[in-house]
Amino acid sequence: LGPNGALHNKDCVKVAVNVRPLITAELLVGCTDCISVVPGEPQVQIGSHAFTFDHVYSGTSSSSYRIFEDCISPLVDAFFSGYNATVLAYGQTGSGKTYTMGTNYNAESNNIGIIPKVMESIFSKVEETKGNSEFLIRVSFIEIFKEEVFDLLEGISSTKSSLPHRAPIQIRETTNGGISLHGVSEPEVRSQEEMTSFLSRGSICRATGSTNMNAQSSRSHAIFTISMEQKKSSHCSTATPIDEVGDDILCSKFHLVDLAGSERAKRTGADGLRLKEGIHINKGLLALGNVISALGDDKKRKEGGHVPYPGYNYINSAAHVNVALQDSLGGNSKTVMIACVSPADSNAEETLNTLKYANRAR
Ligand code: ADP
Ligand code: MG
Repeated sequence: LGPNGALHNKDCVKVAVNVRPLITAELLVGCTDCISVVPGEPQVQIGSHAFTFDHVYSGTSSSSYRIFEDCISPLVDAFFSGYNATVLAYGQTGSGKTYTMGTNYNAESNNIGIIPKVMESIFSKVEETKGNSEFLIRVSFIEIFKEEVFDLLEGISSTKSSLPHRAPIQIRETTNGGISLHGVSEPEVRSQEEMTSFLSRGSICRATGSTNMNAQSSRSHAIFTISMEQKKSSHCSTATPIDEVGDDILCSKFHLVDLAGSERAKRTGADGLRLKEGIHINKGLLALGNVISALGDDKKRKEGGHVPYPGYNYINSAAHVNVALQDSLGGNSKTVMIACVSPADSNAEETLNTLKYANRAR
């Protein structure tokens, strides 16, 4: 492979590690910090293991700012250039995935997660280029739990003031043997406020739909997707509607994924059903890891067909994540995986698993 190939390869998948600070619950039971970050190097050490990533962030209040500047802002630029972009938060339950992504957004929380920052950045770019381009922006928000996919915006986008409910989405086999998600709501949004309102209402829907919020949210994947069509105004009369398909329309998608907890089944609970689910999640995440690691491999990437998307017979919750992302992994896409870890010694085993998984994706 030439230097260009290597550059391209490095460019399309980035892996960052975010080490959150010890939280009160951990300090109360006397946990100590078992991770060290090499100053000035994107390297983490745990026990005798050392791993190098594209970026490593730890515990400081400036982490979320730096994650956005280093990893996410380039994806927003790529998104405006017509690339599909994906950010995945991976890690055990309690490692900071939801905190890092900002998936549980509400008006009172400080706006520090990735998703609210992406929204802000998108709308400020739209403002900047408004004179030259027209934009059509839509959002969708789905939750994948076990083998079912739920539309978290179902009923919210309609004008009827019905209570939000979690509607299972139909999974259909397409004529070419693939599968697709059918009938996911994709409301159009015209402002940052409208977009954040869908995020917060969808996350309330995610939380209230389950009997045990923590139990379910740790075992489900949430995907917030922003789709954008851009049309250069100079090429058309202002009377032409944007959805009239033409060559000069640039379409791209931005997926923000808060994955299910990656912990080993034995730690998730005693009952058999839970154990089985844990194994399913793990198998699915492994498959997703294979997809991501194949993306970082130029040879496999060249022909989209060699990326090992799990087929229908491999169906499980994380395989659905692959389905939801299939148009965006590979081809014209950029992916950032953020591996979230707790520094507590009590989590050392899972932290090591997470770092190994993330190292493989790289
Ligand atoms: P996950 O979604 O991976 O299960 P959460 O995002 O819910 O984990 O985080 C678990 C706990 O740790 C929460 O109480 C959260 O507020 C806290 N936390 C996570 N990341 C940070 C951070 N960078 N700084 C401070 N607290 C954090
Ligand atoms: Mg979470």
